[in-house]
Amino acid sequence: MKARKNLALVAHDNRKKDIAEWVEWNYRILAKHNIICTGTTGKMIERVLLEKHEAEESDAILHPVQKLKSGPLGGDQQLGAMIAEGKIDVLIFFWDPMEPQPHDVDVKALSRIAVVYNIPVANNRSSADFIISSPLFNEEYQPKLKDYTGYMNRATER
Ligand code: PGA
Repeated sequence: MKARKNLALVAHDNRKKDIAEWVEWNYRILAKHNIICTGTTGKMIERVLLEKHEAEESDAILHPVQKLKSGPLGGDQQLGAMIAEGKIDVLIFFWDPMEPQPHDVDVKALSRIAVVYNIPVANNRSSADFIISSPLFNEEYQPKLKDYTGYMNRATER
């Protein structure tokens, strides 16, 4: 992954306020990376970034947030596919631990595929703080992928 990261940000409804605060707090760092979001989270984050940009009267170019479908309408699955294709470097996913979601299976699938491809994942604010303050966040980094060829060979032998 390059120094400029492709950063996926997703939050369930009860966690959107938390992610909005986190984005506002980390605005300067985030402005240097590409942000990809599920639909509703993306609309909110775009607004937060724009307000902060205007408040700071920043000359920096504000890159648009890439918005996928809303999570329950397939946005989590789109993100999962992007991870499998190597298009997402970091996943910040504030899921709601207190409420069942209509797309719980998609939430699980997204979390799983992030582990398969060994990308950094934060599911709460402290973990997100640790990731964004890591020196590696602004450097090139090559995640070491587990060798799944044994699994692939086994699958084709059946
Ligand atoms: P949303 O989806 O950003 O469209 O609200 C988030 C999710 O539920 O995965």
